[in-house]
Amino acid sequence: MSLQQLTERVYVYRGGVNMALIEAPDKRVILIDSGLDSGNARKALRPFFEKGCTLAAIINTHSHADHIGGNADLVKRTGCQVWAPARERPWILWPELEPTGLYGAAPPPALQVKFLQAQPTPEVQVLPPAPCRVTIAGVDLELIPTPGHALEQVAVAVDGVLVAADGLFMPEVIEKHPVIFMVNVADYLASLDRLEVRTERFVLPGHGDLIDRQTGEDPLPAILAANRANMEQMQVAVLAATAEPCPLEDVLYQVLAGLGKQAQSEAQYFLDRAAVSAHISRLMGTGKLSVEFRNGRRLLKA
Ligand SMILES: [Zn+2]
Repeated sequence: MSLQQLTERVYVYRGGVNMALIEAPDKRVILIDSGLDSGNARKALRPFFEKGCTLAAIINTHSHADHIGGNADLVKRTGCQVWAPARERPWILWPELEPTGLYGAAPPPALQVKFLQAQPTPEVQVLPPAPCRVTIAGVDLELIPTPGHALEQVAVAVDGVLVAADGLFMPEVIEKHPVIFMVNVADYLASLDRLEVRTERFVLPGHGDLIDRQTGEDPLPAILAANRANMEQMQVAVLAATAEPCPLEDVLYQVLAGLGKQAQSEAQYFLDRAAVSAHISRLMGTGKLSVEFRNGRRLLKA
């Protein structure tokens, strides 16, 4: 975990969740994503504070707790603004929406944990709809729509650096966590296509290593291919699990078993269930999967 300068004014801080920092005019700094809590963000910001800079703004790429968890403390300490896409904003203002959405009702205490429910951010400014350019703290930024993993996630491009956040996952992350959290599979695939045509030298994923596209062969196409292959693999697994009419619970069990995984906790169970449900929705939308009720049981059938 360390601060790395990529260009004259863009830095990245690699941690459990990666962050980017941009030096803005008038001794100001912009932070992109704030981490699971403010710990890493404060370490990343320290050298800027020591130079007399102030934190002007946090931009949240999306509303997941591990990307917004530092907001509340940083706002309290610095009075900075927080910016987010319109449809991510409610989850940042009212973070209980995250476990409520996952559970479908008031969540049990096991889902009201830091990883799924951040501290609320008191106020959030709305970013204009992507694709667009926006000026924050005197810095011109390009926003690229990357929904799919979250409702309205954005990637941020500045000075040849593309902060892709969870718009893509590194192959080694997919290997470890093959059920990629997902709300909309078709949107995710379209977002991968949007990332594919980008020309920035550096691409910063939300988790894992910084991608440098100019040292040796460009690794981005293979990384995007691994994401597409995962989507395909999940669809195939859901179809195989539903060859015979099967309740959601069993589909989830079979898909995880096929990946060598087992549900171990409430949090992981509901995250995986949501991701598999996103694939089920897509298969229903394309007519490949249907639902039937038999003796009062809801069954999925390919
Ligand atoms: Zn996320």
